Amino acid sequence: MNNKEELLKTYKEWIFRMSAYNMALAIIGIDQQTVAPKAGAEYRDARTAYLAGELFSVNTDPAMVEILKQLLKEDIDDDTRRAVELYLEDAEKTLCIPKDVYVSYQELCSTSYSKWLEAKTKDDYAVFAPYLKKMIEMKKQLYGYRNSDKSIYDQMLDDYEPGMNIEKYDAFFDALRERIVPLLKKVQAAEPIEDSFLYEDYDIEEQKKFMAELLQYLRFDPEWGYQNETEHPFTSWTCENDCRTTTKYLKDNVVSAIFSTIHEVGHAYYEHDIDPKYDGMILSEGISSGMHESQSRLCENYLGRTKAFWEYNYPILQKHFPKQLGNVSLDAFVKAINVAKASLVRTEADELTYPLHIMVRYEIEKGLFNGTISTEGLDKTWADYYEKYLGIRPENARDGILQDVHWSDGSFGYFPTYALGSAMAAQFMAAMRKDMDVDKALSENRYTDCIGWLKEHIHKYGFRYGAEDIMKIATGKEFDVNYYLDYLEDKYSKLYNL
Ligand code: ZN
Repeated sequence: MNNKEELLKTYKEWIFRMSAYNMALAIIGIDQQTVAPKAGAEYRDARTAYLAGELFSVNTDPAMVEILKQLLKEDIDDDTRRAVELYLEDAEKTLCIPKDVYVSYQELCSTSYSKWLEAKTKDDYAVFAPYLKKMIEMKKQLYGYRNSDKSIYDQMLDDYEPGMNIEKYDAFFDALRERIVPLLKKVQAAEPIEDSFLYEDYDIEEQKKFMAELLQYLRFDPEWGYQNETEHPFTSWTCENDCRTTTKYLKDNVVSAIFSTIHEVGHAYYEHDIDPKYDGMILSEGISSGMHESQSRLCENYLGRTKAFWEYNYPILQKHFPKQLGNVSLDAFVKAINVAKASLVRTEADELTYPLHIMVRYEIEKGLFNGTISTEGLDKTWADYYEKYLGIRPENARDGILQDVHWSDGSFGYFPTYALGSAMAAQFMAAMRKDMDVDKALSENRYTDCIGWLKEHIHKYGFRYGAEDIMKIATGKEFDVNYYLDYLEDKYSKLYNL
C-alpha cells in the first residue's frame, strides 16, 4: 500500500469506530428519554459519561488530526476532502477541551436533564435553577478554551447554524417583528375561528389507532423507522436505515400528536434520504439545525396543514371520532387547525405566533451570555418577555420556563434555528410548488412525491454542501426572508378575511 492508501485506511477505520460509539450513545439517549427506569438514572449516567469520554478520546486523537492534515495534501476525491475538512474543523473545536472537563460536562448534561424533568413534574423552577446556572458557567468555560475573538453566544449560534451570528439574527428577527406583530394584531381583531371541537375528550387509544393509519399515509416504514412516546417529542437516528421518532398524546387535544408526528417524521426523512454512500461519515448528517427544522416544519405546516392533506386524511380521522368530528366539515376542520392565537407553550403554537416564542428565547439566551440577564428569578423574566411579545403571562413554571428541554442539556443557540427553519421552508415550498402539483399529490395519497422532491433537491446531499449552497441548488436563489413573510400574510389574510 502506498502512503495515500494507508492514510485512507486508517481514516476509514477511525470514522467507523466513531460511528459505532455514536450509535451506542444515540440508542442510550433514546432509551433514557423513552423507557429506561428512573431509579437507574444515576448509574446509567456515569456509564454513559464514560462512553462519551471514550468517544471524545477517539474523536480528538492527536495522531488522527495529523492524518487528516496529511490527507488534505493528497489527491483525494471531493467528498472525502469535504468530510476531512469538516472533521478537522470539529476537532479544533473539541481538541482544546481537557478530557476531564469534557466528561464532567457530559455528567452535568445527564444530571441537569433529570433535574429539569423533576422540576417540570413538580412545577418548581427552584429545582432546576442551580443546574441551569451551572450549565451556563460550564458552557462559558468550554467556549473559553477555544480562544475565539467572537462572543460566546455568536459562537453558539454558529455551531448550530454555520454562518449565523447575533447581528444576522437581530436583522432576521427585526424583519419578522415588523410584519408579524401588526399581522397578529389584525388577526386578533378579526372574527375568531371556531376550533373548540379540537379540544374535546379524545380517547388516547383511539388516537393511536388513527396514528397507525397516518404513519402509513406518511410512509414512515417500520423497516427503517420506529415511533415511541416522550414528554418532549424528538427524532434520533443511530445509523443507516434506523430512525426513531417520538410523539406525545394529549387527551384534550386531537391534533397535538398528529402535528408532532408529521414534524418528527419530516426530520426522520431528512436523515433517511441522505445518500447511503455517506454512511457513518460526517456527510451523512443534516447540514444545520435550521436546515433540519426547515424540513420538519415544511412537512408539518406547509404540507400537513393544507386542505389537500386533509382531503385524504380527514374522513379517516372522522371515522375514529364520529361523536366529536362527525358534524364538522372539512373546511371547518382545516380552518380550525390553522387558527392563530397567542398561547404559552411553544410546541403547541400556531405558525403565526411561533416565531414570537422563539424571539423570547433568543432575547433571553443573548442576555444570559452577555450578562444582562441572571438565572435568579429567570422564571419571572421569562413571564415578562411573554407578556411583552405575546401579550400573555404563564401562571406556572411548567408552562413557562420549564416547558422546553433544550437548556437542560446546554443547547443554547439552538432555538433561533427553529424560526430560521420555518422561514427557509417557505422558500423551498415555493420552489416545490413550481415543479409539481403538491395539492394533487397530497389529496391522492402520494405524500412521498413531495418527500421525493425534498430528497432530490435537499436530503440526498446530506452535509456535502453548506446551507447557503443548498438553498441555491434547491431554489435557484439566496435565502430571502420575504418568502416566509409573504406566505404568512397571504395565508392569514385569507383565513381571517383581513
Ligand atoms: Zn424539529
